Amino acid sequence: MKNFSWQLPSKIYFGNGESKQVVERVKELRGNKVLLVTDKGLEHIGLPDQIKRMLLEASIEVVIFNEVKPDPTVEVVESGVKKAKDNNCDLLIGLGGGSSIDTAKAIGMLVTNGGKASDYWGNPPKIDPLPMIAIPTTAGTGSEVTFVTVIKDNEKKVKMGVGYSPQMAPNIALCDPELTISAPAHITASTGLDALTHAVEAYTNTKYDPISEALALKSIELIGKYLRPAVANGDNMEARYYMLLGNLLAGHAFANKLLGIVHAITSPMGGYCDAPHGVVNAILLPHAMKFNYIGNPEKFADVAEALGENVVNMTDLEAAQKGIEAVHQLSHDVNLPSGLSKVGVQEEDIEDVCKAAMNNINISINPRKPSVEDLIAICKAAM
Ligand code: NAD
Repeated sequence: MKNFSWQLPSKIYFGNGESKQVVERVKELRGNKVLLVTDKGLEHIGLPDQIKRMLLEASIEVVIFNEVKPDPTVEVVESGVKKAKDNNCDLLIGLGGGSSIDTAKAIGMLVTNGGKASDYWGNPPKIDPLPMIAIPTTAGTGSEVTFVTVIKDNEKKVKMGVGYSPQMAPNIALCDPELTISAPAHITASTGLDALTHAVEAYTNTKYDPISEALALKSIELIGKYLRPAVANGDNMEARYYMLLGNLLAGHAFANKLLGIVHAITSPMGGYCDAPHGVVNAILLPHAMKFNYIGNPEKFADVAEALGENVVNMTDLEAAQKGIEAVHQLSHDVNLPSGLSKVGVQEEDIEDVCKAAMNNINISINPRKPSVEDLIAICKAAM
């Protein structure tokens, strides 16, 4: 019975076909000239064009910025800021996975506040960013509602959590499961495990927040039930609907309750390798759970049950171990790589990564207090 606070800054529109209401959503935020931030892969399948056409038909001006690449860099963000300023854009749409949404969040913050992305690493902006609509096309990052944008600094070899504050949450999250149908199986798998990692870490960490815990547990249940069918059959609309919902619930949970050692490690590790964020999370998650579960066996037993494991007549410790096996099996079933060495992580970088990880905000709330040697052992076991 402790005190806590919780917030949900983004207004959410969720459901099949919701993206067709984009004109109404732009009008709701009084936008006149939109910078549509996306990537070339999505341009190739025509999603940005669909949105652009609807806006032009309503006489809303649109400029497309398509330079986003996975794990957006400070340089890409700077280029987007220039485009937004040169064209006097007054509203941003981030259309895509976490990379496009994060780039739009960073552009919106720098247009109104000035400076560089690194100036806001762990710091809130002074002025509200430009109004923004996030339209996710992956079910993974939750960036459409989270309070941070992740930007990579290649020189410093780090992925920075930039602008951390509720102001960074997009004003509107326009969540249309139909836009995720085109995501290929490997993207569906890695982003799905990213969302599961958010939910498991948010549920099991030590921060007191019963609202986020309820959302995280439901998210684990949905992902446990629907990730395999979404990967097996991309046009399974029921699976796509509930995966996007599971991702959204996890996003709310970790925005408020934060995460754990997986994210403490992947933040610096992302600076050292180009593997998709979700893949690195997926590889580390069961190893981190194995280290963590003695910190709170009951919570990890809940994770097992939410994943659909039969834990009747088991002790919490036994059930918790079953949950770890279930996560291993899920990653295996959706065909994700099993070792960090297979995705470009070098053994010689592990020590530097883990030393940097110890400064991460998520370390202090991890269910079990780790030392740098513990983190190194987890990474080595995951190689
Ligand atoms: P992504 O945005 O990097 O996209 C990966 C690839 O998938 C791209 O080539 C893209 O074109 C393609 N793609 C996306 N949607 C598609 C669709 N519907 N059909 C076909 N192709 C599609 O992937 P992501 O995993 O969603 O985002 C990863 C980024 O998000 C990382 O930089 C990570 O650090 C960041 N992230 C941010 C937060 C946050 O809260 N801000 C949380 C977690 C991760």
